Amino acid sequence: MSRTVRTTCPYCAVQCNFDLHLEGGLPVRITPTKECPVAGGTVCKKGLASLSDLRHPDRLTTPLLRIGGELRPVSWDAALATFAAKVGPILERDPARLGLMGSGALTNEKTYLLGKLARVGFGTPSIDYNGRFCMSSAATAMNRSFGLDRGLGFPLPDIAKSDLILLFGANIAETLPPVMQFLKAAKDRGAKIVNIDPRATPGLAQMQLSPYPGTDHLIAGLLLRLLHHWGRVRPSAPAQGTEAVLESVAHLSVAGVAQVCGVQEAELLKLARLYAQAHRPLILSGRGPEQQLGGTDTVSTFINLAFLAGHFGKPGGGYGTLTGQGNGQGGREHGQKSDQLPGYRSIKDPADRAFMADFWGIREASLPGPGRSAQELFLACGSEIDALVVIGSNPAVSAPGSGVVRERLAALDFLVVIDFLPSETAQMADLVLPGSMWAEEEGTTTNLEGRVQRRRKAMTVPGAAREDWRILCDLAHAVGRGEKFQYADFDALQTEFFAATAGGRADYSGLSAERLEQQTFQWPVPHAAHAGTPHPYFAPYATASGQANLVAAPMTVPARSELTLTTGRVAGQYQSGTQSRRNPTLKGTPEVQLHPDTARQYGLTQGQPARLQGPHGEAVLPANLTPKIRPGVAFVAFHWPGSANELTSAYTLDPHSRMPAFKSEALRITPAPDHAAVSASSRPHPAQSQPTQRPSARPPQPVFSKEPA
Ligand code: SF4
Repeated sequence: MSRTVRTTCPYCAVQCNFDLHLEGGLPVRITPTKECPVAGGTVCKKGLASLSDLRHPDRLTTPLLRIGGELRPVSWDAALATFAAKVGPILERDPARLGLMGSGALTNEKTYLLGKLARVGFGTPSIDYNGRFCMSSAATAMNRSFGLDRGLGFPLPDIAKSDLILLFGANIAETLPPVMQFLKAAKDRGAKIVNIDPRATPGLAQMQLSPYPGTDHLIAGLLLRLLHHWGRVRPSAPAQGTEAVLESVAHLSVAGVAQVCGVQEAELLKLARLYAQAHRPLILSGRGPEQQLGGTDTVSTFINLAFLAGHFGKPGGGYGTLTGQGNGQGGREHGQKSDQLPGYRSIKDPADRAFMADFWGIREASLPGPGRSAQELFLACGSEIDALVVIGSNPAVSAPGSGVVRERLAALDFLVVIDFLPSETAQMADLVLPGSMWAEEEGTTTNLEGRVQRRRKAMTVPGAAREDWRILCDLAHAVGRGEKFQYADFDALQTEFFAATAGGRADYSGLSAERLEQQTFQWPVPHAAHAGTPHPYFAPYATASGQANLVAAPMTVPARSELTLTTGRVAGQYQSGTQSRRNPTLKGTPEVQLHPDTARQYGLTQGQPARLQGPHGEAVLPANLTPKIRPGVAFVAFHWPGSANELTSAYTLDPHSRMPAFKSEALRITPAPDHAAVSASSRPHPAQSQPTQRPSARPPQPVFSKEPA
């Protein structure tokens, strides 16, 4: 029998809609639909290829338990009995020693359920999610200025209204391809597009600025300094902190910033004039400036610039961050973050705690407080964490300093992984529970513009696999704590989830499956007659005063190494590659991209194996020489084991967001023998129990002056 189900892509944060065609219950074809409210029928190659993962031969279809050193198939009864035998005593002794690691790939309902399982079911504060690696710096900066974190505060078509688009470390053409149509529409109307990135990534930019990694805040700070000097500061709305912000950039000079960033003074002046003359300039940032030691402060600098130039909240103007993972937005709203409760409530706020305790029917005092951030949770494994449940994440490849993280995971008493394919983390587990893929479950996701959409179930899970939400409930029941996890069906869970967000900053309580069947909504949607909120960033803001809190970010000069590693994604792969590396139609191999001058400096030629050494490990990768990366910078994508995250630091975290600094790592590089296998290894790291900040910042230097130009 033939069937067609409209659903959303499993991969990135655009969350394109398409039709999944099935024959006899099996997927046979994907076709884009012009009715897609996000991308209008544009789907990238990952979306088109996504159905081949659904019945991949590697698919996990039965629970696996490590017996005699090997993962062996067992029944669900045996798997859950083992879970109870291992985890039950930990909960009796000290629930905080049980950790949970979630994901920006989970639906909103699973995000909610995972947080509830941690706090209500297990009573542990030790929960966080892999979006900490992806979105947390931009989210922290938006929250501290506006009390609200929606990555884009406007619908995507608003981009076309801009007359100047500054892309800071955002490789849209490769990572969010359908968004290019909105940039193209803006360009067709006369907008200028400027790419600010150590790599000249593909796209539509008429101007390329290639600063050293980690210097974006100085460029944005200088633009603000020049606007002030030219009398062009016109705050978008009443704000607190304006004087301090202007004072923080007052010492920046064109010559000084050009020297530190490694760009031409004329380029900076041209950029500043473009920004000053534009009517609706838009700053969009990706992970380039965010995954840095100073990522939160850098985003604050973007916000300050856009706000004080008078463009924040204008259609087509202001600032936005481009979320990465499929449900990276909803995943950071509903309770799997260590510091958060559903509806973007704070776990530290007495009123928020009281609301959720009442909603769940528990004593407020029994609700745990904040836990560790993701990387700190991994680093505590084997010392302060005895058992860890991982769902939808593959930290053995995706966590920074992955060799160190693998050592910590190996030191656990009990590692449980819920997944649908045998990721590298699943292969380390003591217990693997086979879960559901995107087309096998109902749910909602929230895309990069805060748009909530239905993900529809098109087929059943294979073999003895179970839908993830049922597995999470099973775990609560296994340890005798299932009282609050008695959902008759998925609809009951979804209804509870929507209600739990009522009154929160990310309020979904006006949504229902029926409403979402008809259309999509940008949150907040606070009641059943509400049409959604395309533009949420208007004064009064969700701050205590109702005014924007502008934060003066230190104009720190980052230490410069002879060769700096930067990491990222490529078009044909996705995240740690658990799905995309298995997909025969998606291409790509690990490599290190170098400028020809840099390669020559280190005695490397095209295709030659290069030995790369980071703080905890090394990798051997073929050199790919390209003039599109600035000299002194090496780029490695993170989709493969033995690549980028063998080289990143396990311990360098942004002090505000606790996001790891995946970019700007000092790197050593030498030619490897031609016969060297492309591989990686990691060395044990010297004992270091707590994350520390890398001593890579020094105070403002005398290259700056009081004269901006
Ligand atoms: Fe999927 Fe993102 Fe590609 Fe759209 S752009 S098809 S959501 S991977």
